[in-house]
Amino acid sequence: MTERLLKYFRTKQKEVQSEKTYDTQCPFCSMQCKMQLIEQTIVTRKKYTAVGKDNPTTKGRLCMKGMNAHQHAFHSERITHPLIKKNGEFVRVSWEEALQYIKEQVTAIQHEDGLDALSVYGSASITNEEAYLLGKFARVALKTKHIDYNGRLCMSAAATAANQTFGMDRGLTNALSEIPHARVIILAG
Ligand code: SF4
Repeated sequence: MTERLLKYFRTKQKEVQSEKTYDTQCPFCSMQCKMQLIEQTIVTRKKYTAVGKDNPTTKGRLCMKGMNAHQHAFHSERITHPLIKKNGEFVRVSWEEALQYIKEQVTAIQHEDGLDALSVYGSASITNEEAYLLGKFARVALKTKHIDYNGRLCMSAAATAANQTFGMDRGLTNALSEIPHARVIILAG
């Protein structure tokens, strides 16, 4: 009896009760590979799989980063609510309190040192649309001339070297379609 029950539950655990598909894209590099994230519900668990979608650049393939990009959202240490440091400790606060605090600090800094006293620093993991909004936020809302992104830190050395060596700042010096015809390919980085 126990054996049959165990077998029943083991079979049940493999069954997919529902499945949802989300069209999305990998945010990690300029390829911006298209993908689908498939969410499967198995008993009380959720299982996620990333599948590449056809696109002119990578033709439906994903690299390891893209296949695992969604895991950022599920990391146990991801911060999902606002925190303010009070007496040396981070304390959970409401969004209203956090936004009010940010507004007061931003206004005080700009009042004292001018609009350009603030700068905005973008992430490499944001999408094109988010990067556009961040630019608008910096220039129109904050009215600061200082905006940059993490590429200044991680890519500027490569860009300088590429400019000096090849006369252009590109990840690739040739079109992808030329790769099958190349006699030599140098990969660095
Ligand atoms: S899957 Fe890889 S190649 Fe494609 S956008 Fe993401 S990081 Fe870039």
